[in-house]
Amino acid sequence: MKYVGREEFEWECELAQKALQKYSSGKKYNNEVVQNMLRQVYHGCCAYCEGRVEPTAYFEIEHYYPKKNKSHREYKQWVTEFKNLHYACPRCNRLKGNKDPKFYHILSPNYYFDNGGWVTKPNEIDSSLYYAGHKVFARKGSLQGAGTIAVFKLNERQSLWIDRLRKYAECYYLMNVIYGLLGKSSKEVKDLDSALQILFGQLVAYTNPDAAYSTMIVQNFGTEICKLMKVWQYKRNEKSICEQFRKRIMGIA
Ligand SMILES: [Zn+2]
Repeated sequence: MKYVGREEFEWECELAQKALQKYSSGKKYNNEVVQNMLRQVYHGCCAYCEGRVEPTAYFEIEHYYPKKNKSHREYKQWVTEFKNLHYACPRCNRLKGNKDPKFYHILSPNYYFDNGGWVTKPNEIDSSLYYAGHKVFARKGSLQGAGTIAVFKLNERQSLWIDRLRKYAECYYLMNVIYGLLGKSSKEVKDLDSALQILFGQLVAYTNPDAAYSTMIVQNFGTEICKLMKVWQYKRNEKSICEQFRKRIMGIA
């Protein structure tokens, strides 16, 4: 799980909120404009487990403050509040169900309702959860970290952790291949530079926001990927080629 900023989609989010107000019958919140905006904001990855959703399933619109909750009537008014809607895979959505996020200590991917307004806490997730290998852990004493892992069964769902393990292994293997090639000269390996370009392209793709489990990759391998890039940069005698990547990856690492 990672913080998903909506700031860059401010205008689109306003449009989605207008669409929510326009629809006055039936399932008001579930309309095409809202669906498209959520897909864009979350880059097609589930807000909670970070898996890619739509290659194999329809995504579901998840209400952080649930639609039906007996003890909190105020949640009802947020059924059509765009800030309360998130992009989720069917498994995460069903595991959360109508659970009250305050009672179960569930982290929000961005917005909380606090002191009469919607606020974001961009560092909340990073200070509550971390990946070590393909498993996710709560930081010491973090109720939110422990609650989120428990509700979404982030380490228990076999298909999920196997999928994460596969991505982890792929990335690790790719890094080793690159490491080996960086020690070679262009006399030893034909088209060395093109090969490295392709392999680095693949490696960086694992860290993109639309890649599944990119938080796990960045937390495990971000520093190492930066080091490999620096070596490559040095070999090519080119500066700044990787600077943009380094800044982006360090921003979320
Ligand atoms: Zn999920």
